[in-house]
Amino acid sequence: MIELKEAAKILKAAKKIAITAHTNPDGDAIGSTLAMMHALKKAGKEAFVLIDDELPRHLSCLPGFNEIIRPNETDKITADILLVLDTATDRIGCVEKIVSAKILNIDHHVTNKGEHEATYVDATAAATAEIVFDLLKLMEVPLDIDIANCLYLGMATDTGFFKYANTKSRTLKAAADCLEAGVRPNEISEFTEQKSFETVHTMVLALNTIELFANGRAAGIFLDEELTNKAETTEGFIDQIRIIEGVDIAVLLKCKKAGECRVSMRSKGKDVAKIAESFGGGGHVRAAGATLKLPFDEAKRTVIDAITKALED
Ligand code: AMP
Ligand code: MN
Ligand code: MN
Repeated sequence: MIELKEAAKILKAAKKIAITAHTNPDGDAIGSTLAMMHALKKAGKEAFVLIDDELPRHLSCLPGFNEIIRPNETDKITADILLVLDTATDRIGCVEKIVSAKILNIDHHVTNKGEHEATYVDATAAATAEIVFDLLKLMEVPLDIDIANCLYLGMATDTGFFKYANTKSRTLKAAADCLEAGVRPNEISEFTEQKSFETVHTMVLALNTIELFANGRAAGIFLDEELTNKAETTEGFIDQIRIIEGVDIAVLLKCKKAGECRVSMRSKGKDVAKIAESFGGGGHVRAAGATLKLPFDEAKRTVIDAITKALED
């Protein structure tokens, strides 16, 4: 593990920087990588973003979104630094294999164990974008509107637009600086939270699968293959059930293809990162996820059992 100023030094010394983030990318993953790309280019460096996954359409408002490269498994890329953001290095798909460079990992996941020497993890940061905000200060790269839009979106999406427990005064101060640089908060929320009619309709169907369990302390929506593939995105679905009175843990299970399900959990206090880790995933105390290599019914049973047990402890 290193200090943030050491990370700034490493980046200052580099000429060519490949930047990546986790697969199944969210607003913080895309926001922090693009903010770094803009900032490093501004500092006169060669910088580009590689993400080994499809990109969600609701993030396409970000400046630089269309420059993101989806790499091929057969590509060979060399760079001075591979900057891995918003995840440990185990969740970046083929990027880990095809890029030959020294790794610099900057993250805010408490489950990141710092496998590489040059790792900086601040689990108190609401978003990786918040760490990037501090990093750019150390590197003396001033915010411009592009960087600010990317950072604001990263912080906003990881804090549920500044309402989750991870929102600190430090988060709001960084967001305030982004507004000073010209960000319009309504434009970011209108674009990222926009959903097609079909998706809203699918959300209704998804909400109809709701089950309360663990004596009403947990609620889940369980999307089989058919329902999962009907939804263009499931972004925000879980937020509709985490508000239920008496519910500590909310869970969304989705099954994109046979034998592979993704679980997302949100809590008001219980450590869901621990539950996610027991499935081989990770995350934060109040928001975590994992991929289960199980058929839908079995995955559903496994998730309900694990959450019920955690709530008994
Ligand atoms: P999600 O439910 O996918 O929105 O994820 C909630 C939080 O847990 C996010 O901060 C994710 O980055 C993190 N997370 C999700 N899946 C994993 C995983 N397999 N390993 C580590 N962290 C994860
Ligand atoms: Mn993320
Ligand atoms: Mn994040």
